[in-house]
Amino acid sequence: MPLSPHRSASGAAVSALEETYERILRRNPGEPEFHQAVREVLDALVPVLDARPELADAKVVERITEPERQIIFRVPWTDDSGEIHVNRGFRVEFNGVLGPYKGGLRFHPSVNLGIMKFLSFEQVFKNALTGLSLGGGKGGSDFDPHGRSDAEVMRFCQSFMTELHRHLGEHTDVPAGDIGVGTREIGYLFGQYRRLTNRWEAGVLTGKGPGWGGSAGRPEATGYGNVLFTAEMLRLIGEDYEGRQVLVSGSGNVAIHTVEKAQSLGANVITVSDSGGYVVDEKGIDVALLRQVKEVERGRVSDYAEARGSSARYVPGGSVWDVPADIAFPSATQNELDADAAATLVRNGVKAVSEGANMPATPEAVRLFREAGVAFGPGKAANAGGVATSGLEMRQNAGRESWTFEQVENELARIMRSVHEEVYATAERYGAPGDYVLGANIAGFERVTEAVLAQGLI
Ligand code: GLU
Repeated sequence: MPLSPHRSASGAAVSALEETYERILRRNPGEPEFHQAVREVLDALVPVLDARPELADAKVVERITEPERQIIFRVPWTDDSGEIHVNRGFRVEFNGVLGPYKGGLRFHPSVNLGIMKFLSFEQVFKNALTGLSLGGGKGGSDFDPHGRSDAEVMRFCQSFMTELHRHLGEHTDVPAGDIGVGTREIGYLFGQYRRLTNRWEAGVLTGKGPGWGGSAGRPEATGYGNVLFTAEMLRLIGEDYEGRQVLVSGSGNVAIHTVEKAQSLGANVITVSDSGGYVVDEKGIDVALLRQVKEVERGRVSDYAEARGSSARYVPGGSVWDVPADIAFPSATQNELDADAAATLVRNGVKAVSEGANMPATPEAVRLFREAGVAFGPGKAANAGGVATSGLEMRQNAGRESWTFEQVENELARIMRSVHEEVYATAERYGAPGDYVLGANIAGFERVTEAVLAQGLI
């Protein structure tokens, strides 16, 4: 698929970027998600490289598409019956020009190097957009926590950290949670890090518990942040949440807090989902019940539907995007919303779609939304509230402070408004007002690039 030549005045930038992209494909075989994430950024960069040919001489694109360091390790552990398992652990430290590598850990059977690279690459630009001093990284394992006891999860986390700890540090690399990694896992990881290093180094991990260095508002931050970002997009098209029908996919931390915040602003959120199917709840999702089912009982959305009674309908399989709505928040995982789903949403009159997960919309879906004039919030801007609040947690840890929920929420709201403003203004500057994909990629790239150029050939 060619890069978008219509944006290029001379065509020189397009062919240089095409060549770079071909080389990336050759050197990173079998990593489709990484290719997809790189392609989205390169596509947006055409007008920037056209305007600034010196960036090509400095090989900026080649340098920022190559991770600084990729760590792959064995994670052996024993289950409750004494059987030995061997998983693979990863940490990709993609770019550290703006601060310590920062990004979550994902424990999910789908994890592989390509997925780690796509996530850490995205993280670089997302973290740049927050305006905080954060580099980009990501890690995780193909370990599947589903159905595992607390003791098994603990032994896995201890084994994982036994290797990873030597690469971490509050000024070096600071992981957090992602899919399959929440406060419980961060606790086991932190305990093992402290035991191995003999340091109570709060700033080495974020997403900690509130009583031991965690920040108020961190669990809420990604979902709340996306709802706030989207409020800004809606405002500019003369809309708001009041009485709007809203779809949320997923039912993890991001989804739950997206539902909660959107409802508090007057929306009627009618869906959540998991890998088994989705729930339509005409009266609006009951967040307290959803929390109980997901976080306390570690159950499925089908259990939610059963406990909720007649207003909720469980649809096994199928696509949550078939449900007509005004606003959609894909908050499950990458490539969950394809071209068919996008076409259905557009047909049903969706006004805004904003990514709570990382890269949940496929490139074809994004194209359909942009063509249809739907306000589309790309994850690297829209879901930056999570990592931004991790940055606030690091700030509290460094000052041995503990902020109130209100302080954190106010700061999160300020950051999301400023991310929106910067992304919007950047798109406008490049002649594409309202194109948040273009704006986010260029604005993130510009921040990273200035630091790359200032720090010499690294
Ligand atoms: N995993 C989250 C993300 O995708 C948060 C990372 C962090 O807090 O470091 O941005």
